[in-house]
Amino acid sequence: MSAHALLSPSAAHRWLNCTPAPRLEATLPESTSEYAEEGRLAHSVCELAARKKFTLMKPSAYNTALKKLKADPLWSDEMLTTAGVYAEHLAERAMSYQNTPYVTPEVKVDISDYVPEAFGTCDCVMIGGDELIITDYKHGKGVPVSAEGNPQMRLYALGALRKYRPLYGDTIRRVSFYIDQPRLDSYSGETMTVEDLTTWGESEVKPKAALAYAGEGSYAPGEWCRFCRAKAQCRARAGVHTALEDFKDAQPPTAGGSPLLTDAEIGGLLHRAEGLIKWYDSLREYALGALLDGGVIPGWKAVEGRSVRQWTDQDKALETIISAGIDRAVVYDLVPKTLAQLEKMIGAPQFSELVGGLIAKPPGKPALAPESDKRPAYSGAAADFAEAT
Ligand code: SF4
Repeated sequence: MSAHALLSPSAAHRWLNCTPAPRLEATLPESTSEYAEEGRLAHSVCELAARKKFTLMKPSAYNTALKKLKADPLWSDEMLTTAGVYAEHLAERAMSYQNTPYVTPEVKVDISDYVPEAFGTCDCVMIGGDELIITDYKHGKGVPVSAEGNPQMRLYALGALRKYRPLYGDTIRRVSFYIDQPRLDSYSGETMTVEDLTTWGESEVKPKAALAYAGEGSYAPGEWCRFCRAKAQCRARAGVHTALEDFKDAQPPTAGGSPLLTDAEIGGLLHRAEGLIKWYDSLREYALGALLDGGVIPGWKAVEGRSVRQWTDQDKALETIISAGIDRAVVYDLVPKTLAQLEKMIGAPQFSELVGGLIAKPPGKPALAPESDKRPAYSGAAADFAEAT
């Protein structure tokens, strides 16, 4: 088994929709970001927190392991807080069973019954009553990831069934998946019967996985392009956004027609232009990278961006100003830390105990969102009322 399967469960949403993507991506360089490394460290902290909660781990062993993690340059105290939330949720779930469930963190699962050569790692597997539960921790704070209809979680569950069914047999009748994303305060779950899950695996996954493994099928651009390695260079994605046909509704008015777009046209165009902006951003990012690597993008060059002056020795500069007779109050502002910074530094439980009652959450500014957005529609009256109270 190689370290990376061609069809990874985390990219399943993409290859289930665009089957030729994995083979195309394999021809392009892989990049690893600091965010990915930070995520790996945060997962190790979660694993340690879960082991402390569910195994007979000696305090000395826990402290040694924690010290090692804290020595990582990407360490942040917030990881301890979010891992605590994750472990608490696991404990709550474990307590919901009459008998103590089987709980184990970091379980490698083999998904090759459905997806060629695929494997994955479940952050936590719990088996209680007639249920198998997979919990996944997400450290990202870009977009909330929902467990509902999530193919990555379902594939993990299929792998976990393969591993545990020989031991538990038909006792396992249901599977549940949970995604904890504490930094976005996002927690979601889904439950399916084992029968529905395996039917999904056989009918939805197997045929598409076979196509994807062979690099066959049609390129199908969509929101899943976002994390595709080919997102900037992909011709199919470019085709969608460069097709003039896509904007035909906004062509110049015909004789006698209105020169202004209707609200209905604007609604449609907003949807179509959304993908266009994301695609354009991927092109810019790719082109800048290529130019910095010494490549040529005809018609474009890399330039120095806006630069802000900075002290070479701030302490010395400020002392010089003060010793010249300028009042210290002119030089320094006494600015309190933000609510979020203080919460991060003090820790959520103590912060909430001390000042939880002194926090209000005013309504956010109105923002435009597609109708499918889960948030309720903005109500000016409700916002006025919230402000008044
Ligand atoms: S960019 Fe989109 S359409 Fe192109 S290969 Fe990737 S997922 Fe498929």
